[in-house]
Amino acid sequence: MATELFEDTKKQFEAALAYIPISKDAKEVLEKHKEILEVNIPVRMDIGKLRVFTGYRVHHNDALGPSKGGIRYHPLVNLEEIKALAFWMTFKCAVVGLPFGGGKGGVIVDPKTLSKRELERLSRGYINAIYDFIGPDRDIPAPDVYTNETIMGWMADEYSRISRKQSPGIVTGKPVSMGGSLGRGEATGRGAYYVLKTLLQNYKFGKKPTVAVQGFGNAGFHIAKFLADDSFKVVALSDSKGGVYAPDGLDPVSIMRKKEEHGNIEGVYCKGTVCDVIKHKKITNEELLELPVDILIPAAIEGQITKANASRIKATLICEVANGPTTPEADAILDKKGIPIIPDILANAGGVTVSYFEWLQNRSGYYWTLNEVNTKLQAIMAKAAHEVFDLHKKNNIPLRTAAYLSAAHRLVAAIEAKGTEEYFK
Ligand code: GLU
Repeated sequence: MATELFEDTKKQFEAALAYIPISKDAKEVLEKHKEILEVNIPVRMDIGKLRVFTGYRVHHNDALGPSKGGIRYHPLVNLEEIKALAFWMTFKCAVVGLPFGGGKGGVIVDPKTLSKRELERLSRGYINAIYDFIGPDRDIPAPDVYTNETIMGWMADEYSRISRKQSPGIVTGKPVSMGGSLGRGEATGRGAYYVLKTLLQNYKFGKKPTVAVQGFGNAGFHIAKFLADDSFKVVALSDSKGGVYAPDGLDPVSIMRKKEEHGNIEGVYCKGTVCDVIKHKKITNEELLELPVDILIPAAIEGQITKANASRIKATLICEVANGPTTPEADAILDKKGIPIIPDILANAGGVTVSYFEWLQNRSGYYWTLNEVNTKLQAIMAKAAHEVFDLHKKNNIPLRTAAYLSAAHRLVAAIEAKGTEEYFK
């Protein structure tokens, strides 16, 4: 899987190429990564032993602005994955019209096995290692899988310490007390909620559509919460340890509370699981994906809906809050079955959009109210969703291809503005 991830990812963009006149130059530029950095980070563990962790930072393309993208801490991180994630960031930023390119970083580590101090040393060590590769005008990291605002705070502080100046715009997703934006914590879930609400006008559902959410991290929890607060019935939730199912509906907030109560917080992670909620039926992650619901929301990691299970998916519509949860083979199967997929690069772009707001606030030194953040987020997400839906209708193409097409219009224009082979002939 890992070795094919970036090649597979490129296919999603290539599908859009038939619908846009694109120079050979622009295609070639977009199919390659601009820069790739691998680092080895020595960390002194609490018991005195030294461990060296391998990490990456990748810039895919910066035609529209400085590279932007999260940093993930996960034992399965590998370069191929980070390359795919950086590629998605380029298109994600472009689809919502942000002046950013695509980047991504990651460290091979199971962060739940580290103490809080070890995690801090690793996070500072990572910034030290990639220091020359990032900057508020070059590449701006943010949270991703298993990184959070505490870690972003350490990273921003480390960058300012090395540069001997305050540079809050170097990292987004920081604690509000360190220059983070109001609303950033819930932004991915909120953005996905706005996209869903905008697009659902085009599909027919009953009064209280049922929803299953795979993944109960920051994005999964918030989308479940926003939908449950609205007129949706969230019937299933899961995390890496398994899930719960209740046809009459679940309350994501009390489940999160239970998860935190049962589990202790170690390092900066809660050791609890949604499975601690006793009164609901237990299901596996695989079972959750195959539930007969109106809306299925994969909000965990990539490669969850594959050719092995796509034919058993019973949802009416899929909304990808995770990055890359559906493989291209599964895409084709679901397309044949007539199940529309709201693609990741549109559905989960709310996180990076509020990261953009944070970066703007840091650079101007003027901070916005939560209402300003949410109003601007809603406007951007709804506009992007309409643009994608119109291209989907006009060209009779899947929503994913339409999202790539919408992003490609902006990217190709920026790349070609510098000149093309035809121009220089
Ligand atoms: N990691 C998030 C993503 O995949 C957020 C990136 C950012 O805020 O820069 O979109």
